[in-house]
Amino acid sequence: MQGYTIKNEPDLQINRLLQLFYKNNMHYEGNIIRPPSEADSIILQITKGCSHGRCSFCGAYGDKRFALKDLEIIKKDIAFAAHHMTDKRRAFLCDGDALVTPFNRLVQILEWIKEYLPQVNRISTYANCRSISMKSDDELKQLKELGLTTFYTGLESGSDSILQRINKGFSSADIIRESQRIKSLGIKSSVTVLLGIAGKEQSEKHAIATGKVITQMEPEQTAALSLMLVAGTPMAKERNAGRFIMPDKNELLRELYLMVDNINCKTLFLSNHASNYLAIKARLPKNKEKVKSEIEAAIRGDITLRPEWMRGL
Ligand code: SF4
Repeated sequence: MQGYTIKNEPDLQINRLLQLFYKNNMHYEGNIIRPPSEADSIILQITKGCSHGRCSFCGAYGDKRFALKDLEIIKKDIAFAAHHMTDKRRAFLCDGDALVTPFNRLVQILEWIKEYLPQVNRISTYANCRSISMKSDDELKQLKELGLTTFYTGLESGSDSILQRINKGFSSADIIRESQRIKSLGIKSSVTVLLGIAGKEQSEKHAIATGKVITQMEPEQTAALSLMLVAGTPMAKERNAGRFIMPDKNELLRELYLMVDNINCKTLFLSNHASNYLAIKARLPKNKEKVKSEIEAAIRGDITLRPEWMRGL
């Protein structure tokens, strides 16, 4: 189980000031969202919003309409990073689905990163199933050679009926095919799954199907988050109308258990996101039994869970 490091105050303050300095000088528009593991990366916003933008639970980008960002602005941000972020070895491309950027444009951005930020040795991006399928094997290989080596993708659920219900825009067969394709090209992937997304009724079916689909996708990393309903989203409206009932704490832990139980590929499994009650960091399937015992202990009340007030997106 992963612990939490509380940094000492001076460090925290310097870190906050630095973040503010970056935020005020990079040309960020709207909410900037990144995976927890990209906290120390140069965050480069190359698109605005999400090209799909229809998932029924998602309030990530609010009213931000999808658009490609101006190349000159992106170049200015890279130049700023070249002066002020010389200690950073990673870069992360956002918004929601930065891989949808046309190939030649993406090549130009990656070449600028290579030229102005030679210390960067890993570039990652958000990528959805459709944007991966829009790139040929050759294109993906070239992007990888230019340093784009890791994709973050939202699976949410392995159940086709749930994927349809939440408007994800792909089927389990689509995402398995694209995952296996990027894997065969040597691109790493981190996949997000959502506890609670199927409601109380389909909780078990969702957990089992998700574990099985992850097994076929074989991502290097699987990250479980718990659904936090965002006001104004179609799913929150469903909840308000009584048509969606969120599983309770123990039902979410049971989902986590079933998901882990059904994952039979090598993956680093994380549930350390702030939305979860129980933080796990474990290599599967190697440590499956240990993780299952921990979850059982949490269900029995033998492990202290993250308190409600500390949970968030
Ligand atoms: S693809 Fe991701 S960012 Fe876009 S709407 Fe769906 S969950 Fe939100």
